Amino acid sequence: MQSFFSKDGAVCFDCPYSMGSGAELKGCYTHKMHQYSGMVSQLRSIALKHKRWDDIPKFDEGIHAVIVGMCAGKYVRFGTYGEPVLIPIELMRDICAVAKSWTGYTHQWRKPWAYDYRQFFMASTHNLEQTELAETMGWQSFMDDSTHTKHTGMVNCPASKEAGYKSTCSKCTLCSGTTGKGSKSVYIFNHS
Ligand code: SF4
Repeated sequence: MQSFFSKDGAVCFDCPYSMGSGAELKGCYTHKMHQYSGMVSQLRSIALKHKRWDDIPKFDEGIHAVIVGMCAGKYVRFGTYGEPVLIPIELMRDICAVAKSWTGYTHQWRKPWAYDYRQFFMASTHNLEQTELAETMGWQSFMDDSTHTKHTGMVNCPASKEAGYKSTCSKCTLCSGTTGKGSKSVYIFNHS
């Protein structure tokens, strides 16, 4: 598991919680045994089905259509592990057009090539300075706040400990970028 997640830079880029950026294995909430065993199980299934690397189908219009169909009418959580900005923007548009709702977050919000994903994802930020910068750039933010203070003009995540675990992401879906449900940035107290 340590070895598997030590390669996380390929899908997490410069996220400060990635091992590729120098964080410990426990740094990211996705770096858990069930994520690891799920990925290994998926890779085993692919290897069993296709036998050879060259037999694995490449992403194309047909696979695009299958994925969109799977998301129709459902709540979609992007980026269970890794950066959701790796999903082609055209696929994002089509998924979000048919999904019931969605949530997603990215640490790549400062990168010009990631700007279009503002429509669908929250900028992952860690203080007010970053949040204000992201908002200036047109993003709504999800701020992981170590100061444990209330922030006017922002929403306190209703699934947080400090909000009394009133909701869940699949019910709330405020974290869905500028075209989703929410219109404000969100904050949560960092309890780690
Ligand atoms: S604000 Fe809503 S969608 Fe965002 S993390 Fe909290 S519960 Fe999930």
